[in-house]
Amino acid sequence: MFQLAVYGKGGIGKSTMSANISLMLAQRGHRVMQIGCDPKHDSTRLLIGGGSQRTVLDYVREVPERDRRLEDVMVTGSGGVMCIESGGPEPGIGCAGRGILTAFDTIRHLGADGSGADVRLYDVLGDVVCGGFAVPLREENADGVVIVTSGEFMSLYAANNIMKGIRRFTPDRPRLIGIVLNSRGVEGEEAAVRRFAEATGTRIIAVVPRDRLFASAEAAGHTVCEMFPDSEAASAVRGIVDRIEEVMSGAAMDVPRPLDDDQMSDLAAGREIRPGNRVPADVPLCTGCEAHTGWRQKYSCASCGAVMALARLRDTAVVVHGPRSCAYLMDSAYLSTVADLYTGGVYDDPMPDNIYCTSMDDSSAIFGGAGCLADTMDDAYGDGFREVAVVTTCVSGMIGDDCDAVARDFEAAHPDARATVVHTDGVINGDYFDGMDAVMGILIGSVDPSAAPVPGTVNLVGSSFFDLQSPEAAAELGRMLSVFGLRVNCRLLDDTTMGSVRSFLGGSVDVLLNEERAADFEEEVMAVTGASRRVMRLPTGLDEYVGWLRGMSEVTGLPSGDEESRARSRWEGFVSDHRETFLGKRVSLSTVIPRNMDWMVDMLSDLGAEVVRFGFTKGADERCGVTARHRDMLIYDYGKREISADWETLHPDLLLYDVDIPDRYPGNSLRMSRIGPGIEPPLRFMESVADALSRGCGE
Ligand code: ADP
Ligand code: MG
Repeated sequence: MFQLAVYGKGGIGKSTMSANISLMLAQRGHRVMQIGCDPKHDSTRLLIGGGSQRTVLDYVREVPERDRRLEDVMVTGSGGVMCIESGGPEPGIGCAGRGILTAFDTIRHLGADGSGADVRLYDVLGDVVCGGFAVPLREENADGVVIVTSGEFMSLYAANNIMKGIRRFTPDRPRLIGIVLNSRGVEGEEAAVRRFAEATGTRIIAVVPRDRLFASAEAAGHTVCEMFPDSEAASAVRGIVDRIEEVMSGAAMDVPRPLDDDQMSDLAAGREIRPGNRVPADVPLCTGCEAHTGWRQKYSCASCGAVMALARLRDTAVVVHGPRSCAYLMDSAYLSTVADLYTGGVYDDPMPDNIYCTSMDDSSAIFGGAGCLADTMDDAYGDGFREVAVVTTCVSGMIGDDCDAVARDFEAAHPDARATVVHTDGVINGDYFDGMDAVMGILIGSVDPSAAPVPGTVNLVGSSFFDLQSPEAAAELGRMLSVFGLRVNCRLLDDTTMGSVRSFLGGSVDVLLNEERAADFEEEVMAVTGASRRVMRLPTGLDEYVGWLRGMSEVTGLPSGDEESRARSRWEGFVSDHRETFLGKRVSLSTVIPRNMDWMVDMLSDLGAEVVRFGFTKGADERCGVTARHRDMLIYDYGKREISADWETLHPDLLLYDVDIPDRYPGNSLRMSRIGPGIEPPLRFMESVADALSRGCGE
């Protein structure tokens, strides 16, 4: 089978030429299939009496895969030509290029190869620049290419781009059959096209006159060759078909040499065309922005990060606008992160089931996903949600769905509901944290500036899903808040609601839960709340806790009762109970988490141990919240190698680390995970340090 692609600028006469070529090939005894690849879907019109036929892409949209058959999209036209139209979306929505890819796949799956055609002609729009429109140019789809052009510059410009496409796929293989000059009747037309053909190393295979007969034939729904076989126009088509048949029986084709921009301006100005110095086909293909081996460094994608953040809003439906498989992975990631919070008793209420997906498939990627987005938002509304947040993905982003317009329509149709769009599609290179930050920005921006603080309420800020993952830590925080009888107004961002985020300023004091992210949150929160609000960091260990109790009393105007002395005697009792185990022990600390570890340094020294090393894995320039009072002890860039070296020289009895530890570290070590707030969680941790030291003694 010979595959032929007819390319050219929109409106230049490709479909007219294609239909005439197909008919004449058929009249000469070939079995011809013509496939229109223009979303305009009028390629085969002149072969089927001027009507239109069902397009492959409409068919894909309407008929499930198992019920599809080639006959449903193939019409037998004049001369027995098998006619197929790809179709495509309306201008301005969806992705026509993706449509061509899907149409090709579908036609192949439907068994077009077994249809008995010995010539297949693709009629393709040539001035669209994306990869989909170049599919028919690929080596496996086109043995030969015919370019239709007039002498007008824009038409020659498109012809030149088509040549670039041919070179891109096959730099050395001759696949250009030649140029059909379809005359517009502009002055000097033939000379201009001749200069272009010469400069690009190809030939004009026919000059088709501008002729009213084309319009007459078209009005009757037929080709010129059929209605006026003796016309000059029909004889020009005969010239094209002669050349195609020669090529089919082995005549040489051309390797095009597309012109560069300077050469194109010479052509346009009618000057002599200078020798080219740039060969477009040599432009390297994009190899991606990062080494392929580094992919694991990315924590999932920005869309996933946005879903992880939004799903924590109980009153909000999160609509993933993308393929079902993306939503599945995001939902699984979310569940694996939060499941412990619920099953472990950190939160009482059952986990909300608030993640929806528009399940974008081939048809929504081609025809646009606005419809399925609107439907899914309506479903969420029907389920009772009055807050809907849309998270865009690569697919909806690449086809350019106007999600903001859908959100506006949704709000207009449901005045009691609010819709938010998180545009994570523009962040293809971004990761999880970009998505979370995008959501935080939106949430903080939605805070109602007029809400007045309600006495006795607190906002928990920056819980960031990590610090309070154990029921013990959560219980301790609950106990700490109950000292003042405080009620939680908003958890930013965990197990909360969009409503409580909006009334964030109703909280009388903000407590920052997570030191690592606290600085970011603090800045953002301050930007909306104003500097008059007091932000309290969550304390760990006795000294900080005492400071926190006093600060909270001051801010809330509420007394802390005898909590300070209770905490002090609990702490000091622990120290005297465990001093024996720690006395004279050498402990080294290594952390990558920028958390305040003052309490641990103090406590180790109260217990009679010596801190022989205190290292931070990153450099001093990283925003480093590790210790406030003991910063002079800290050394930076403290990695595995330094830990090993210290083992040789310092011989600590115990290494406390959080992430980095050398493989096969010979010494005694204990991992510090998130420790938790207040008094009990750090004491429990020190209990395990004591155990580790006792174990070490026994070895
Ligand atoms: P394309 O497929 O490139 O978009 P068409 O084949 O649909 O272009 O042609 C556009 C219009 O130009 C049609 O109405 C067609 O009849 C007309 N046409 C094409 N070639 C000629 C010609 N040589 N003389 C007169 N009209 C022509
Ligand atoms: Mg056309």
